[in-house]
Amino acid sequence: MDYGNAPESPDLALEWLAQHKNKMSHFINGDWHSGKNHFASNNPASGERLAQVSQADKNTVNQAVKAAEKALPGWQALSGHARSEYLYAIARLIQKNSRLFAVLETLDNGKPIRESRDIDVPLAIRHFYHHAGWAQLLDTEFPDHEAIGVVGQIIPWNFPLLMLAWKIAPALATGNTIVIKPAEFTSLTALLFAEICQQAGLPKGVLNVVTGDGSTGQHIVEHPDIKKIAFTGSTAVGRWIRQATAGSGKKLSLELGGKSAFIVCADADLDAAVEGVVDAIWFNQGQVCCAGSRLLVQEAVAERFHKKLISRMHKLRIGDPLDKSIDMGAIIDPRQQQKIASLVQAGVDAGACLNQSTAELPSSGCFYPPTLLTDVSPSDQVVQDEIFGPVLVSMTFRTPSEAVALANNSRYGLAASIWSENINMAMHLAPLVQAGIVWINCTNMMDAAAGFGGVKESGFGREGGKEGLYEYLTLKINTKTQKDKDK
Ligand code: NAD
Repeated sequence: MDYGNAPESPDLALEWLAQHKNKMSHFINGDWHSGKNHFASNNPASGERLAQVSQADKNTVNQAVKAAEKALPGWQALSGHARSEYLYAIARLIQKNSRLFAVLETLDNGKPIRESRDIDVPLAIRHFYHHAGWAQLLDTEFPDHEAIGVVGQIIPWNFPLLMLAWKIAPALATGNTIVIKPAEFTSLTALLFAEICQQAGLPKGVLNVVTGDGSTGQHIVEHPDIKKIAFTGSTAVGRWIRQATAGSGKKLSLELGGKSAFIVCADADLDAAVEGVVDAIWFNQGQVCCAGSRLLVQEAVAERFHKKLISRMHKLRIGDPLDKSIDMGAIIDPRQQQKIASLVQAGVDAGACLNQSTAELPSSGCFYPPTLLTDVSPSDQVVQDEIFGPVLVSMTFRTPSEAVALANNSRYGLAASIWSENINMAMHLAPLVQAGIVWINCTNMMDAAAGFGGVKESGFGREGGKEGLYEYLTLKINTKTQKDKDK
């Protein structure tokens, strides 16, 4: 489809926001409930206020859990085929409203419209279609399993709609009912999604959306009637959730931080690898859990590769996320921008060489230039800590085994990417890298059919594919005596 190059108009989303002023509230039992307290949702690219969103307290979370419990028997009693009809309807309605979803997401999050339009929204749709298929296969593929019950889901701000789809689609397919909380920076597409579910005729109480900050998340985690917590976010909060749920019997899946290695071997197609790096660390301003934020280049080509990369970095266009020609949009909020800047400064203070795009940044809003730090040591803070911004650190290696050792010198283990024209060597290295996903000559490839998740401090559990469904099912063996079987 030819979208032209003119900036996408925000009118569609602003109109929706104006119409829904009194609906920026919680979606509980199929209806909208406004709370007493509100917080602002701002456009990070301009600082302008988009909406006032309700803050859910303990009482609101209790109401949402009650509604989910009430809806559970009816939802579980439906056949997988019947549930799949709802998933198909949801997928089609997101498709029908895809432009609105994309513009609203870009306004609320600051990501380039090209990304929300061509990646976030289509992948979210695909997730519902994929899981509609699984819903029909439950009896044959999971004969001894049943739904867990009421599940609590807490998601981050970097892919608001997509993370919501990753959580909601498998939970619905398997017969669970849901209380979900979007991140406080990006509640808007979750509320539009709730409206879509209303239109799809999803039975009341099957999906409940409560908006709020970390305290709302805590009420969800601590609620005794929630049987499973699915969390995507920082390792620090993931650690707290694991401690808070210990001994409660709650099932848990944690998708946490990362510091993924991007390994460029001397025989790699260097131009393709440069484009790979652009995608790995400057896509979504580097605010990606599996961002290839640690570049490891074989010594023989390091100088040449850095030169090519720096030249490419200077060509990136940074600016209004609604501009279709923009490569990088805004950072989610000023605190995150400050955190990025201070980590980069710490790297420079420790002796790193700073290479930064000199492109002019917009005068208002929250922007940070694409950055490459060379001359870093494996133990430096910038190498070990997740920056969650457009900052790449680069080190060199001599032998493939040294590359593996450097890649594994991290407390995280979400993803890795290996670039080499010697596929046998790449295939030999891939299993040696401690990560949940290893891409070869590509990066950031996601599919609803492939289980996504990490090892080490990147968490546990998988989202997507058959593995992802087990996270929302429990094994139940019904044993009959021989006498009963013979009847
Ligand atoms: P965060 O942990 O601060 O917040 C994530 C969510 O948890 C938000 O909805 C927040 O309101 C909520 N929350 C905060 N404190 C809570 C508490 N005590 N109890 C319950 N909920 C609480 O993380 P963030 O800054 O929103 O997101 C960035 C982090 O998420 C990064 O570290 C990134 O790597 C990670 N992430 C991981 C994946 C993955 O799949 N592994 C995907 C996206 C983001």
